[in-house]
Amino acid sequence: MTRSEGNPALAVRDLRKRFGRKEALAGLHFTVPDGAVAGFLGPNGAGKTTTLRLLLGLVPADSGDMEMLGVSMPAHRASVLEQTGALVEKPSFLDHFSGFDNLWWFGSLNRPVTRERVMEVLARTGLTDAAHQAFGHYSTGMKQRLGVAYAILHRPRLLILDEPTNGMDPQGRVQMRDLLREIHAAEGATIFLSSHLLDEVQRLCDYVVIVDHGRTVREGYVADILQRGRETWEVRVAEGQADRAGALLPGLPGVLACRAVPRGFEVALEPGASGGVNQALVGAGVTVTALIPKEASLEETFLALTDNGGDPA
Ligand code: ATP
Repeated sequence: MTRSEGNPALAVRDLRKRFGRKEALAGLHFTVPDGAVAGFLGPNGAGKTTTLRLLLGLVPADSGDMEMLGVSMPAHRASVLEQTGALVEKPSFLDHFSGFDNLWWFGSLNRPVTRERVMEVLARTGLTDAAHQAFGHYSTGMKQRLGVAYAILHRPRLLILDEPTNGMDPQGRVQMRDLLREIHAAEGATIFLSSHLLDEVQRLCDYVVIVDHGRTVREGYVADILQRGRETWEVRVAEGQADRAGALLPGLPGVLACRAVPRGFEVALEPGASGGVNQALVGAGVTVTALIPKEASLEETFLALTDNGGDPA
């Protein structure tokens, strides 16, 4: 995607929502850049579904500001929702209607749609062969894909999806990821999808908003977040020198954590510390045979930021 200088697709400020004594959203802030594929990541109960329902005007917020596609919500609800596709609740299609008839029927309730466009979105979501089968006979993955087909039917500028791979097997998840990538490339919509699956967000999204207990704990481009704070390296040493290296490493400047792996150590370093660590080991008589940068994982960052893994940053 390109980083847009224009209005963000979504901007949320100090959003609050209570259900009785439960504070589901406790002053949420975030923005989603126009054109992004953004992940909304958080543990169960963090407030993701509530946020999406508030954005879509399905429940009212207690307080706070929301902007979608550059205008304020819910004041401009009708015009914004006309440009937004969503899959937030389970798709409520009719079991005895075919996929085609469901899209045709529900898709033309409020706005005209052509048969060609219905076939186009069925093809886009890999459902051409199943177009005339009864929805009740679709697999879970096919049902979710028909939900996505419905969400993109009117060529939305913004696509909001709540856990789009929920209930799918690993193969279905891969297909859904490929599908969303294709939709983003072909239809150009900004995508905002919730997930509690870190790996999924890391593979699919270029932007991420991480929430916990109804608050934003971090947001930004995935690449920037992964680079911030720590780097992971594999340090390989000559045979017979593992004990010596293992004794030295944890005490060296810039080393945050260290664990033994088959041919050496995996170490978490402060950014830029790898050269100094190498020098210190060599200076102490250890032969470093390789120093290999490892790709950081969003999981580490996520666990460090949410209650799943300890103290919030
Ligand atoms: P999950 O991944 O489990 O769906 P989530 O991040 O989507 O979690 P929400 O469903 O938004 O979280 O829920 C946030 C909190 O608000 C939870 O503690 C939930 O129990 C509570 N909550 C949500 N909707 C309601 C409701 N209608 N009535 C009472 N409590 C609610």
